[in-house]
Amino acid sequence: MRFEVEAEDGHARAGVLTTRHGAIETPVFMPVGTAGTVKGIRFEELESADLDARIILGNTYHLWLRPGTEVIKAAGGLHRFIGWDRALLTDSGGFQVWSLGALRKITEEGTEFRSHVDGSLRFLSPEVSMEVQAVLGSDVVMVFDECAPGNATHEDTERSMELTARWARRSRTAFDQLQAAGADTGRVEAEGLSGAQALFGIVQGAGHLDLRRRSLEQTVEIGFDGYAIGGLSVGEEKQVMFEVIDDIAPRIPADRPRYLMGVGTPEDLVEAVTRGVDMFDCVLPTRNGRTGQAFTSRGKLNIKNAQWAKDSRPLDESCRCSVCGRHSRAYLRHLYLSGEMLASILLTHHNLAFFLDTMRGVRQSIRSGDFPKFRREFTERLSANGE
Ligand SMILES: [Zn+2]
Repeated sequence: MRFEVEAEDGHARAGVLTTRHGAIETPVFMPVGTAGTVKGIRFEELESADLDARIILGNTYHLWLRPGTEVIKAAGGLHRFIGWDRALLTDSGGFQVWSLGALRKITEEGTEFRSHVDGSLRFLSPEVSMEVQAVLGSDVVMVFDECAPGNATHEDTERSMELTARWARRSRTAFDQLQAAGADTGRVEAEGLSGAQALFGIVQGAGHLDLRRRSLEQTVEIGFDGYAIGGLSVGEEKQVMFEVIDDIAPRIPADRPRYLMGVGTPEDLVEAVTRGVDMFDCVLPTRNGRTGQAFTSRGKLNIKNAQWAKDSRPLDESCRCSVCGRHSRAYLRHLYLSGEMLASILLTHHNLAFFLDTMRGVRQSIRSGDFPKFRREFTERLSANGE
């Protein structure tokens, strides 16, 4: 993997991340494909000019439990299994296991939990996570980490963060051994690239800035291809989230991509770009699409509302996606209330188009030196007519 920053505007950066499965312009939004599918949308649509998603997420925890590594290995890796030839990033499973709450037991060695699929007792560790991600053959692998709750005390957070640092080192070692052993199923000899997977470290420390800084130092000392800020959007105040990003993002080595995990709304994305973040993922556009909520340039729109019953306008009058080009709010509302699966499909498509197009606008404005103006107008429009 190669990363080049090509333009800067304040802390905001526009660059290109070159992976063995294509070049990705940053800042980038990555749709989440939990179980080997971005829910509610076909891969052809993700590739279409409408969306043009260059990288999507896969979920180690879910894919490991079902269909399991044997099935994916037999297919020749996750790219081949799902029929996606663009870039893939896989998370480590750490966050999913963490979110099981009382159902899991964390020790120095790793995390023991019961599978939500069949109730069997499973064990996930840095080594297992790296093995699974090698079988998946994703282009970007995440270290196995532990996440402290947003409101964790200093003492609890410190313990969790130190464990994350030890797990990061074990992840690095296991990853390097697996690469050397040729375990990675996604190896592609691309021009100027080694063909290997990239490994990202994760900075933890909840809302405690001193711990966040120490976590960053420890992570950079180990050395990774990119750095993620994890453990945000887990119940802390939004102000705390931005304090952490403000403080940490600019301290991440400038020549490495900075990835804010699991965040957020379109305005969160723009605000984090302002603070120097390059990569994002979030389930909001797909999940909310399935529950009848559209993200638009004028704020959120709930398609269930009676006020749209006879409204012939598209979801977003300034959106150029194929859903807005063809269908009215009235029709989408009818589909949703009728329980038609097409409602989820169309809303998901529009929401992803809106997130991806917002990032396109962000990139263009950084390159042309107009990012502050873009940010101001974007924010003003959002609050003008939101519900
Ligand atoms: Zn649209």
